[in-house]
Amino acid sequence: MLTPAVSEDLSQLVRLEAPGSAYGSQDSSDGRRLFGLDAAELASRMIAAGEPAWRGRQLAEALYRQRIAELDAITTLPKALRQRLAAGGWQVGRPAIAQVFQSVDGTERYLVECSGGDGVTVETVWMPEGDDGETGDGVEPDASDESAKRHHQATLCISSQVGCAVNCRFCLTAKLGLQRNLSSGEIASQVIVVFDRHAVEVGRDRVNLVFMGMGEPFLNYDNFMGAVRLLVREVGLSPQRMTVSTSGIVPGIERFAQEPPELRPKLAISLNAPNDQIRSEIMPINHKWPIESIVAAVRRVKLRPRERITFEYVLLGGITDRTEHAAEVARLIRRTGLPAKVNLIAWNPGPGINYSTPQPEAIEAFRSTLIDAGIPVYLRKPRGRDIFAACGQLKRTLEG
Ligand code: SAH
Ligand code: SF4
Repeated sequence: MLTPAVSEDLSQLVRLEAPGSAYGSQDSSDGRRLFGLDAAELASRMIAAGEPAWRGRQLAEALYRQRIAELDAITTLPKALRQRLAAGGWQVGRPAIAQVFQSVDGTERYLVECSGGDGVTVETVWMPEGDDGETGDGVEPDASDESAKRHHQATLCISSQVGCAVNCRFCLTAKLGLQRNLSSGEIASQVIVVFDRHAVEVGRDRVNLVFMGMGEPFLNYDNFMGAVRLLVREVGLSPQRMTVSTSGIVPGIERFAQEPPELRPKLAISLNAPNDQIRSEIMPINHKWPIESIVAAVRRVKLRPRERITFEYVLLGGITDRTEHAAEVARLIRRTGLPAKVNLIAWNPGPGINYSTPQPEAIEAFRSTLIDAGIPVYLRKPRGRDIFAACGQLKRTLEG
């Protein structure tokens, strides 16, 4: 739902196919970039350099736990080895924050430079107190938990592609088409650079990660899951604090259902409509994978205790925000039999998109209809409106 930092004319570009395998788990620009490789891959690079395999583990510690961005600063490696690696063209090659926008509400929006050397940036958003979208699925801090009181619960929203090929009618990212996939390293680096900036201590601070920025994670599945593996195994994050949102890419959901529980994030489905007819109008992808096919795939995911499937629902004024729509959504969700919650998002306007924002009374009526039907529902707070960091607002700022 985020929009990349590009000028208006980019949106005129013809939609590109993703370069696919050219952007595997390793970054594309050269083979000498360490960031993005996991401990095993780093070990094999070290063995090739005539070093013992455990140097790979040391490197992984330096890159992902200590968050060191320069090869020469990795002092756990002997100086001679660092020099030899540098002479061989090796570098950490971690993407950096190119620009920061700060909101009065504490939200920060970043442009993170991709590592392909193509000057492309992606959007990442840091919400120090979350946006309430993460509540209600069994991971809220216990009120008696001292660490939760001392350290705010933040939410970090990251991107998985530059642009998006899915073409939802209400979304600004769709206007860009798909520019390219992000590599696993580029996806994971958004987390590392923001953690570094906010001195986040993994294991102490409660940060929820949402794959809800630019792009459709399940159309870049291997790199998305590669990033999850890096974040879980090398950075030390819990997949239970990560949520991936999909527009309903059924083959992706089916693959996701096969992931081991220790690596599988929570799942959010962008439902956005009460039935196939309206959904197909606002999300043409629904013709290919209608609601029932999505639900069938979601049923294959083995949920953890207390885990719920999140259904995201963007309220478009007059189109999806009526009380009868809410009642229909409640029936639909009950019919699935899935433990579920609904995240309501009031549509954020964007240039060239002809929808209207829902009235506050409509939002409230929608919400209470779902609550009365026994469905847990949360209204996502729009964060960082003054820096245009809320869903669908980013492009406007860049033009202004
Ligand atoms: N591509 C994935 C994840 C990114 S979009 C997906 O579609 O699920 C994340 C959420 O933002 C989706 O639920 C989407 O419906 C919502 N969204 C997109 N544009 C929006 C806008 N202009 N206002 C509010 N929400 C929007
Ligand atoms: Fe936007 Fe739809 Fe792509 Fe999600 S899938 S980023 S809502 S166009």
